[in-house]
Amino acid sequence: MLKDVPEIFGSLVFNDDVMSARLPRDIYKSLHKTIEEGKSLDITVANAVAAAMKDWALEKGATHYTHWFQPLTGITAEKHDSFLEPQGDGKVIMEFSGKALIKGEPDASSFPSGGLRETFEARGYTAWDPTSYAFIKDDSLCIPTIFCSFGGEVLDKKTPLLRSMEVIDAKATRLLRLMGDDQVTRVNSTVGPEQEYFLVDKNLYKKRRDLVVTGRTLFGAKPPKGQELDDHYFGVIKPRIKAFMQELNEELWKLGVYAKTEHNEAAPAQHELAPVFTTTNIAADQNQLTMEIMKKVADRHGLACLLHEKPFAGVNGSGKHNNWSLSTNYGKNLFSPGKKPQDNKTFLVCLCAVLEAVDRSQDLLRIASASAGNDHRLGAAEAPPAIMSTFLGDELTEILDAIERGEHGENKKAEKVVTGVEVLPDFKKDTTDRNRTSPIAFTGNKFEFRMLGSSFSIADINTVINTAVADSFERLADRLEATDDIEAELDKWMSETVTAHKRIIFNGNNYTQEWIDEAHRRGLYELKTTADAVPLFVSEKNIELFTKHKIFTKSEIASRCEIMLDSYSKVLHIEGLTMIEMARKEILPAVITYTNEVAQSVKLRQDIGVCSENDATLRLCKKLTKLTDDLYSKTKELDSAVIGLERISNSLEASAYCRDVLLPAMNSLRAIADELETIVAEKHWPYPSYSELLFNV
Ligand code: ADP
Ligand code: MG
Repeated sequence: MLKDVPEIFGSLVFNDDVMSARLPRDIYKSLHKTIEEGKSLDITVANAVAAAMKDWALEKGATHYTHWFQPLTGITAEKHDSFLEPQGDGKVIMEFSGKALIKGEPDASSFPSGGLRETFEARGYTAWDPTSYAFIKDDSLCIPTIFCSFGGEVLDKKTPLLRSMEVIDAKATRLLRLMGDDQVTRVNSTVGPEQEYFLVDKNLYKKRRDLVVTGRTLFGAKPPKGQELDDHYFGVIKPRIKAFMQELNEELWKLGVYAKTEHNEAAPAQHELAPVFTTTNIAADQNQLTMEIMKKVADRHGLACLLHEKPFAGVNGSGKHNNWSLSTNYGKNLFSPGKKPQDNKTFLVCLCAVLEAVDRSQDLLRIASASAGNDHRLGAAEAPPAIMSTFLGDELTEILDAIERGEHGENKKAEKVVTGVEVLPDFKKDTTDRNRTSPIAFTGNKFEFRMLGSSFSIADINTVINTAVADSFERLADRLEATDDIEAELDKWMSETVTAHKRIIFNGNNYTQEWIDEAHRRGLYELKTTADAVPLFVSEKNIELFTKHKIFTKSEIASRCEIMLDSYSKVLHIEGLTMIEMARKEILPAVITYTNEVAQSVKLRQDIGVCSENDATLRLCKKLTKLTDDLYSKTKELDSAVIGLERISNSLEASAYCRDVLLPAMNSLRAIADELETIVAEKHWPYPSYSELLFNV
């Protein structure tokens, strides 16, 4: 073990301990009130907090401050200002006002707004989210903020997430109270995101234009040794990686991120980091930070950290597992079957609400995990399919079946549950060999949403989950309010819910064709690509859900849909252009050089009369020539496809074109180039091979 972990943990965070030590008592108290009750911050409080923050930050060596926010690009943005205030007499003082803490004004026009901007002012503002602690990064005091336009339109991923947390808090609390819980005053959604990533040698990385420009290899023949041997998963961690992980952990601990586990993943050069779960908005901030720090630390170790969902074709890609749960102000996990009968009822009701939410919002869950990068994974028998379903395990499914049938007295397990005489079985034991192919698995006391891509912000998916589950809670609460017999109504609702939504339960292997056929029979969505999924964002059902709970306005939904489609096409456009450039400027010349060499051998053999019809050099030369012709024409075809895309201005049309024309053109060019890679002499091939990249750290 390295340094004293408790000593460094959170040392760069303006957390509760620091606040309590440095803020006057009354200021500390009213800040707490703000945080706990979501009240807006009084300017005198803000001034005092800002002053304390500045003093603390200066002591830690910071010179600047920045409002740190998450625009719709999916990565974080920051605009740095220095604390320096000129005093007119050539002197400066270090200043930071409450106003500067609460509000910032970055130029919104440099961030995507999906059409919202044209109708409103270009300026936007950022506002402190006091529930997420300020921290120091690169000599700057970073203040986690939300980001809106001056017209009030939301331009970031954080605001809707915070709204969804408020909504699920309100609806869950109301429901629990109706169910007789008089202790509950707040329900928090909690998340622990597991982060997968690849580490490759930086020098090799730099030699690949595709990796540098697009984050993934656009060419590359499959290595002879892949992950078939399964020897990487939980394998011994190499010293260079170990050193990286050690430093990464240390950096994250300083920032108050509870980085906990580290192990190798299924693919060679692939690893995973999981933090201890926390409140959802903080988890979202910390995951963004984690990804950023991973890249920085990798760089210091001569490594490149790849967060792309599919850096290597034919090798497992990287995802992010979003472990989600709900917990009350008094620390009860709502998805943990309890010891008391009433706890079990709560558990089963919450479980049914998730079933309903997942079934009703299948499309939204798919959309929240959609991107050009993640399309390579979902449904490729390495990650969950593009079809949403939940894994509950046999035992729990059996109980739900019994609830559906209303077999209170006949089925032993159901009797336990419905009459609430005994405790539920411990589902944790069921999770030891849980189903790894399921997109949404119940894992003992939480749901694990496994569809997310490794580079994603977790904000969108949690906004969807919170809102959809809150909506189920609300409809149930309405029913309970209108009845005299709460218990009977709960049983009835559960039974109806299981009947209506059990189609979403699937405990088998999600990677099989049988499941896909079965899912079609059940009428579940199969949205294979981003271009198929995202247009459903603006459906009436989805607009109703989000506007009802005041998460998005209709125009905000339309703008987000636009941005997602647009970025899908942009990514593919850049990939297409990069492939053309690589093929023309590097691959083609390399192949021609090698072909010339081979042709000379042919000539020599012919000159001395030993070149038969079957001569190896002759055959190779012919093959190379044929493939070179193909490479040339496929490059031309891709070029036309790219030009075709550039002519389309409508984002919906453009995304469909990318799916139907551009991607197939990219794939056929790649197939030729990859075949050439396997026959061209290594010294001529312009790029490090998959084997070099994957096995060289
Ligand atoms: P896996 O077996 O899926 O790799 P890990 O132990 O790596 O599991 O990760 C599980 C994640 O789930 C951790 O980040 C953990 O903190 C998180 N988690 C555990 N309990 C909860 C909870 N109640 N709410 C949210 N996340 C949780
Ligand atoms: Mg997992």
